[in-house]
Amino acid sequence: MSARTSSIAVAALLLSIGMGIAAFIYQKTTQVREALAEEILEQQHDVSTLIQEYGNVLVAIEHNRLSDDEASVAAMKSSVAAAQDQLAQMRSNYSFARLDGAAKAHAYVKPIIEDISQWTTNGLHGYQGDDHFILELSSKRMRDRFPAIRSISTEITAVATELITEQTEFLERFRDSLLLLLFGFVWLSVAIAALLIRQRNLQTQLAKDQETNAQKLIDAETRGRLQAETALLGSEQFLRATLNSLNSDIAILDKEGIVTAVNTPWKTFVSSTHSSYTDGGVGHHYAAVFRSTAVTDEERDGIAEAIKQITEVLDGKKEVMFYEYPCHRKEKRQWSLVSMYTFYTDEDRYAVLVHEDVSRRKQLEERDQRLRAELAHASRLSTAGELASGLAHELNQPLTAIAHNCDAVVSSIRTYTDIDAELVETVNDISEQAHRAGGIIRSMRHLVRKDTSDKLPTDINELVRETVRLTAPEARAKGVKVILRLTDSLPSPTIDPVQIQQVLVNLERNSVEAMGQHNSTIKELTIDTYLNQTGHIEVCITDTGPGIDPGFAEHLFTAFQTTKPEGMGLGLSISRTIVEEHGGRLWIDQNEEDVTMFKFTIPAG
Ligand code: ADP
Repeated sequence: MSARTSSIAVAALLLSIGMGIAAFIYQKTTQVREALAEEILEQQHDVSTLIQEYGNVLVAIEHNRLSDDEASVAAMKSSVAAAQDQLAQMRSNYSFARLDGAAKAHAYVKPIIEDISQWTTNGLHGYQGDDHFILELSSKRMRDRFPAIRSISTEITAVATELITEQTEFLERFRDSLLLLLFGFVWLSVAIAALLIRQRNLQTQLAKDQETNAQKLIDAETRGRLQAETALLGSEQFLRATLNSLNSDIAILDKEGIVTAVNTPWKTFVSSTHSSYTDGGVGHHYAAVFRSTAVTDEERDGIAEAIKQITEVLDGKKEVMFYEYPCHRKEKRQWSLVSMYTFYTDEDRYAVLVHEDVSRRKQLEERDQRLRAELAHASRLSTAGELASGLAHELNQPLTAIAHNCDAVVSSIRTYTDIDAELVETVNDISEQAHRAGGIIRSMRHLVRKDTSDKLPTDINELVRETVRLTAPEARAKGVKVILRLTDSLPSPTIDPVQIQQVLVNLERNSVEAMGQHNSTIKELTIDTYLNQTGHIEVCITDTGPGIDPGFAEHLFTAFQTTKPEGMGLGLSISRTIVEEHGGRLWIDQNEEDVTMFKFTIPAG
């Protein structure tokens, strides 16, 4: 049902109720009016009848006074009886208080009629037999009372007229009021109906407005959410792009240490190891992911220490941490730096774990350190070098002269047949030794000359032989046998021969010195050259000395670290720098028992 229809129904109902009430009241008032008219008529009829009966009695008395025959006496008595009947039949009261005329008339007439009935039947006390007197008395009494009774009748008519007029006026007023009431009801019904319709319309409008507002709100919320999502996505993408643009390996951790995001370098770092976390370990605990990247025991120890410090940051004991640890590989020496910073969002605390390969910086640092030491060393050596150079030059000439003279002696004595063969052999030997001494002097001059920075294709085997010539006297003095196992036809790498020579001399001298201080029965220095599996030229210097002191092993390549009273502790660190600058690697191979093995590689190309 529509709002209009239901409102009209309500209005019609109200109107019906109003009309019903009006009809009921109208009916009731009409009934009252009819009852009044009926009572007025009844009263007028009763009083008229009584007056008529009263008149009849008076006439009968007068008639009897004129002729007192029996018929007139009987007629008189009959009229008295009729008047009594009428009195008996008359009502003594009416619903309307003001209709008291009948009662008054009754009250006036009844004693008279009673008296006359009494007098005419039983006679008047003291006047027995005097009927005329009785009749006269009766007539007089009735006549005396007649005007009063008549005025009652007139009064009744006036009261009736008055009552009817009042009633008519009242009814007219009542009808007007009723019409007004009805009109009021109509107006009220219409107003209520209009109000109801308006209320319904307002409700409908309100519902519509609410719906529209709710929709607007939803739209605004959706727009806001979309904008927020877009902004979030944008900031996420920005963050991800920023993270990915950084060279360092970065992982974001929550306060429990779970990896929540990583950048591409981190993924590459994790997957470059033997780790099973191919996606960088997002969703896993950082410690498990980090540990899985360790390859060597040394690295594992470094990571364990780093994790200890990271845990302190995650526990809020400190805000940042930095830790550097070595993670050398077979083919490369390298270091990692782990650092951690914390940041807060609205709800939580996060940490940024940064892993960096700082090998290059470490190498440069080491190199700088060595170069500084080398500079100091070089300045000290330069004097000795210049002296040695002069000495070598001085010695070269007599040695050359000795060699030439020996050659001349040999050529001349060969013509003599009786010359002792042993003498020839001895002179030959002198010549040979002089040549050898000359070679040593040349190598020494070569070693100390200043223009040493040029790289050129070099026969590595020849370089080894040259250095062995330099170190042979010391080896011989210490009872060390030198064994060369040099692979023929090796490629000639482009190197600075003097620098690589220095590496070889350092390694050979270390071996000879180690074996010299050791009471081993076998004292052998073996030098191997060969092409390794990665295509590098590899040089292996093996000695049967005491090996590296375990407490010293970790300082082996550190500058100024030595176990020798007169040592500088620079040989190995300088050698490593030289080899690495040539694109190779120098390390100690401890896989073989009873021997000490230093190896270095040089790119063959
Ligand atoms: P230096 O020879 O001046 O001590 P190095 O850097 O060449 O400096 O060597 C550092 C240390 O390494 C030596 O003092 C020695 O203890 C140890 N070392 C080097 N080579 C050997 C070797 N072949 N056998 C035993 N120890 C060695």
